[in-house]
Amino acid sequence: MNAHPCPTEAAALAARVARAADIPSLERLLSSPEGQELAGLFGRSRLASALRQVLEDMRGQVLAGEMQLAHLSVTNLLAQARCHIDAQEKPRLRIVYNLTGTVLHTNLGRALLPDEAVQAVVRAMTAPANLEFNLETGRRGDRDDLVEDLLRELTGAEAATVVNNNAAAVLLMLNTLANRKEAIVSRGELVEIGGAFRIPDIMHRAGARLVEIGTTNRTHPADYEDAIRPRTALLMKVHCSNYAITGFTRSVGLPQIAQIARQHGLPTAVDLGSGTLVDLTQWGLPREDTVRETVEAGADIVTFSGDKLLGGPQAGLIVGNAELIRKIKKNPLKRALRVGKLTLAALEPVLALYRSPELLADRLTTLRLLTRPQAQMRAQAERLQPFLQRALGDNYAVESTAMFSQIGSGALPIDQLPSYGLCVQYAGPGRSGRSLHKLEARLRNLPRPVIGRISQDALWLDLRCLEENDEPAFTAQLQANTP
Ligand SMILES: *Cc1c(COP(=O)(O)O)cnc(C)c1O
Repeated sequence: MNAHPCPTEAAALAARVARAADIPSLERLLSSPEGQELAGLFGRSRLASALRQVLEDMRGQVLAGEMQLAHLSVTNLLAQARCHIDAQEKPRLRIVYNLTGTVLHTNLGRALLPDEAVQAVVRAMTAPANLEFNLETGRRGDRDDLVEDLLRELTGAEAATVVNNNAAAVLLMLNTLANRKEAIVSRGELVEIGGAFRIPDIMHRAGARLVEIGTTNRTHPADYEDAIRPRTALLMKVHCSNYAITGFTRSVGLPQIAQIARQHGLPTAVDLGSGTLVDLTQWGLPREDTVRETVEAGADIVTFSGDKLLGGPQAGLIVGNAELIRKIKKNPLKRALRVGKLTLAALEPVLALYRSPELLADRLTTLRLLTRPQAQMRAQAERLQPFLQRALGDNYAVESTAMFSQIGSGALPIDQLPSYGLCVQYAGPGRSGRSLHKLEARLRNLPRPVIGRISQDALWLDLRCLEENDEPAFTAQLQANTP
């Protein structure tokens, strides 16, 4: 509970109606003992501006004869100013419980960093670091050097560079290699990712002319061959991140595209989207081409995200042929799109975890969440069910039940992971739909918002992303607040 409850009108004990002359001066409020105490906490100028706001809000009501004198006490006015300040203090970026079932949820910040990365970020934030300083020579260094060796080792590529996100990686790659030239892409791969990333638009902004080939469902090797002209700069393959084309389909595999490109002396670029560094089937997850496989299949440039399946910070990784990477790094846009030191600080330890693949499912948060045993989530659901049922009361029926999670962020869009969680149905009078939406909003308004999803006349809370060490705080919140 807030120690300084906002005074409400009901709290006022009306003695008489206030007049303008009753409004205390700012000076009197600031120099009162309570005012001085608050000024010590927040600074005099900030308190003064909050008080000015309070007085201004009051003046109109006083002039209209709508204000009781008791409202104008020093204590009351200062308490109102404190409310203004408290409202400002609340951070806009708040942590939430992601019970949506989507592990890499773009709107909830995608990958969670493992502890090694968090510690590295804290160190880099609070002390100077050799971001662009070569400690061997004492000369200026290159920030990409911090992770390039690791990226080469993990992907088999000759060279690597890092930018702010994968959209930036694609933009920079296309602008460097295909500006004022043509880039060939299959119509089946002209993807739009959430948040307004569309391959044709990026292509345009990069200065490249998109040459679409084939049809939505079928593209053949001859389509690539026939589209190659003197102005062709590259052949591009884009991962169909958030959709699947099934039925009567045909697409050309990367080895074949790369072979056609090579015969014409052209590079092949692949936007891998999520981009995983390890074979996910070893953990029973759906298959996804790794970056190494993509390089081996003949891609000269591969771009992928840092905060999707990789499980690291937001970043765009570009790996591939040394000469092409050199050109990309020389593009002035690289300077505009480069990553900050906090990103690099987080990225290095995340990549380093991949040196021990057997330990990855335990240490890399994203993979740990994706591979949580269903039995573990089931036991958790059974433990949490009574807490939620008690908190919601008799108008709702809470059941622990099996459900399906998604990886999210355009990784393996149609595959679902067997999960477990809580399903809430409305059991009271009146319409269920509105009551469920109200409940969803109430959970979303808890001190640490709980984000679930409504589907099939129920609110689903998938427990995959509620790790066991989050559980005490989760139940404590349910006990302390009636959502
Ligand atoms: C996600 C995705 C992007 C954008 O990556 P960001 O890191 O979010 O900028 C680009 N291309 C594909 C195929 C993707 O899946």
